Amino acid sequence: REEQMQRSEKLRVVGELASGMAHEIRNPLTTVKGFLQLSKASDYNIENWYGLIMDEIDRMSDLTGEFLQFSKPHQTVFQTHSLNECVLKVISLIESEATSSGHEIHFHESTYAVHMLMDQDKMIQLLLNMMKNACEAMEANGSIHMKLSRDQKNATLVIADNGPGIPSDQLEKIFHPFFTTKETGTGLGLSICYKIVQDHHGTLEVESELGIGTRFILTFPLAVNMTSGNDNSAVS
Ligand code: ADP
Ligand code: MG
Repeated sequence: REEQMQRSEKLRVVGELASGMAHEIRNPLTTVKGFLQLSKASDYNIENWYGLIMDEIDRMSDLTGEFLQFSKPHQTVFQTHSLNECVLKVISLIESEATSSGHEIHFHESTYAVHMLMDQDKMIQLLLNMMKNACEAMEANGSIHMKLSRDQKNATLVIADNGPGIPSDQLEKIFHPFFTTKETGTGLGLSICYKIVQDHHGTLEVESELGIGTRFILTFPLAVNMTSGNDNSAVS
């Protein structure tokens, strides 16, 4: 009986992963499609976006790889990277899509370097998910303000938008898998974000005011002795 429970729990996790897969593949596909459309519509040579398109394709192939390796434990790879540069990279990935909707992205960089141990692909996936949510929530001509700062122990990244805000009765649900208010949403973005933040021993908080906007506050410890972990420990 207990075996049966374990089995249905495993199937549930497999199902969640499958939907999560589709969700995560769609983001880079949208970006690649956007670059291709832009290169056709303008005089821009495709070569200008070659690197970014390749990065996105790499991300998709990484995700596919993770999916295929599902039954085997997947290693999380922590290396020292600049959080500052991660944010800039994500901005470059989302900028053309955001500006075509009339959104502005402002980034207040940290005065001091913010290097930390991270799984860079996951960090990029996390930031991309959060910024996409902000873009999707805002009417045309919205603005996203990001601020990175640090103290002796922690890095703090604030991602604030001036979208419609989140009703208070929904605030605690937004991190639940499959909670979505969007017609084509999967509701997996923020639960994936939450997991990635946890993997980095960080915290993720949200503050929101109707008609004013929403702020997500991420903090990461700067000097955690992170050993590369087993990503699938929940199902192995
Ligand atoms: P999805 O984007 O597929 O709906 P997410 O897990 O990314 O799934 O987000 C869950 C829900 O949280 C969204 O449907 C939306 O209602 C709410 N949400 C997330 N980010 C924001 C934001 N910046 N502004 C307003 N609502 C948001
Ligand atoms: Mg989302």
